Amino acid sequence: APRELRETSVRSNSFRLFSRAKSVFPDGTTRVTVERDPFPVYVQRGEGAYLVDVDGNRFLDLNNNFTTLIHGHGYAPVSEAVVGLLNSGTCFANPTEHEIALAELLTSRIPAMERVRFVNSGTEAVMFAIKAARAFTGRPGVARIEGAYHGAYDWAEVGQSVSPGRGGWESPPRARPVYRGTPQSVLDDVHLLRFNDVDGLERLLAAQHQHIACVLIDPMPSRAGLIAPNPGFVAALSEVASRYGILIIADEVLNLRQGYAGASARYGLRPDLITAGKIIGGGFPIGAIGGREEVMRVFGTEDAKPLLPQGGTFSANPLSMAAGRVAMEAMTPEAFDRLERMGDRVRLGLRETIARRGAPFSITGAASLFRIHPTPIAPTEYRDAYLDVAGMAVMRRMTHQFAQSGILLPYGAAACLSTAMGDGDIESVLSAFEDFLCAETQ
Ligand code: PLP
Repeated sequence: APRELRETSVRSNSFRLFSRAKSVFPDGTTRVTVERDPFPVYVQRGEGAYLVDVDGNRFLDLNNNFTTLIHGHGYAPVSEAVVGLLNSGTCFANPTEHEIALAELLTSRIPAMERVRFVNSGTEAVMFAIKAARAFTGRPGVARIEGAYHGAYDWAEVGQSVSPGRGGWESPPRARPVYRGTPQSVLDDVHLLRFNDVDGLERLLAAQHQHIACVLIDPMPSRAGLIAPNPGFVAALSEVASRYGILIIADEVLNLRQGYAGASARYGLRPDLITAGKIIGGGFPIGAIGGREEVMRVFGTEDAKPLLPQGGTFSANPLSMAAGRVAMEAMTPEAFDRLERMGDRVRLGLRETIARRGAPFSITGAASLFRIHPTPIAPTEYRDAYLDVAGMAVMRRMTHQFAQSGILLPYGAAACLSTAMGDGDIESVLSAFEDFLCAETQ
């Protein structure tokens, strides 16, 4: 049964806003995945690594708008760039120099991005990457990793958050509707792969290659466990996909933050197309589709009409372009290294705490990302990381305990660090976890 809303003295303004919101939003808010136990924390403002809520409480923000804000909140160089542009027009049908500058920055860093196009969200980037793979190969099908999140385009969506049926997990895995009324044709065109499963990959592509345009893969899918790809899986993927003329789309909307050249470069994956979003917009809406020049020609060339028309009213708007460029320019190799060392300290510290207390938890992640799992052995694929009712209850208690300690911790997805954080913030994450483990064993 839904929990009664309680008015708590420390969160009475959030409580009042939620009560008001319920008469305009069917579910009480538009921010669907934000913890609402028993009601959401309404934000008054962000300050670097922190959020201040409408009741004046401060929280260390490990969500950073779903890993978008690599510099935390209110990063001054971005604010200054954007304020400088506001009075001279915020969107035009014509191109601006801002789009060229961000495109130059990305293509010079990311090997798989020889050419690029901008859109407004990661969802859109994945949608156009899939369409580009179809236009290039002339095939409709998509192979994708079980459990991974790629946004809301139907063909990217239907393999996310799958759960075991009455008889356990399906083998081989099958795409399932995310909502009632999903067209059967969508399900027929999507094939699921288990992460790091070389045999399954070879079997599927051998059987279905005439039908499959692309393998869509996030190199470290956050919602599928934030698990590193095995080198053998990466090598097999390149080999089998190229054998059958199937394109690899690396969805780096989230994981581009793993390094100066992105995640594919880090794990030795050589995609034909690559999608980006989140950090490359500096806190403004953005998505990007990049890839090999030959494949990107489907969007048209100077002398050929596009095989695949692609537009978007707000695509490449100067605010997102300029904010993104400023945020990314500050992400030098040294800035990525510093974030990586902080990430290493958090993951190591959490693992040491787990070992010292003999607690049944494990840690995954890399670079500035981490996930805490309520399982003693670190998951190696989505099925191990899947949260059943008991696992979900543990993670709820954990986020609740973290919130009590002034930290907003996402669960079921990646927590992330920002350049605005320092050693003291890492210490508070570790001590909140220690407090949680203490409370669990009492
Ligand atoms: N792909 C991945 C890997 C993501 O993590 C996300 C968002 O979390 C998306 C796509 C969708 O991006 P957006 O929310 O900007 O539409």
